[in-house]
Amino acid sequence: MPSSVGHALAGAAAAWCADLVPGDRGWRTAPPTASWYRRAGNGLTVLCAGVAAAPDLDLLFGSHRRFTHSVGAVLLVGTVAAIAAVRVRRPAIRVALMCAGAYATHLLLDWLAADSIPPYGLRAFWPFSNTWVISGWDLFRQTERRHFLSRPAIWINLQAIAQELVIVGPVAVAVWLIRVKALARFSAEMPCGDHSAK
Ligand SMILES: [Zn+2]
Repeated sequence: MPSSVGHALAGAAAAWCADLVPGDRGWRTAPPTASWYRRAGNGLTVLCAGVAAAPDLDLLFGSHRRFTHSVGAVLLVGTVAAIAAVRVRRPAIRVALMCAGAYATHLLLDWLAADSIPPYGLRAFWPFSNTWVISGWDLFRQTERRHFLSRPAIWINLQAIAQELVIVGPVAVAVWLIRVKALARFSAEMPCGDHSAK
């Protein structure tokens, strides 16, 4: 299964993908002179990166790749994100799509990855099905999460992270470049000193 680095990068790319959907999205950008953090979508993009890595927190509870790695969890994340968005007066459907999409990338990457520990794959279709699914394509390497501070584990995980960056990195960069073009109209309308990002 991929590392948290690959998952987080995919989550940020999912947030930027959601920014390509037409509608109320001017608040997602900032003037060209603003910081990278603001232009990348502020804390919500960082949140999406965290949301995309979050399913593996189930390792702490000894129930790995079950309910947390399912379409049911994706729907739950989308619902919670929509409620939170309404409370802070942001577009609920857009924020829900962004967070649920980021979470769903975790399922996709795990499905595409190598898995050497049975049962293989994830319960992606829970609660509709308890079947474990995996593509068998081994696109991402198996990471080592036991004794991860040992020298062999560090070497295995560094190789896995490098491969994730090679595969997910170009996708993230491409989405970023398309997003910059798509949001240029909004950022050009903002005064340089505008920090409201409306
Ligand atoms: Zn996972």
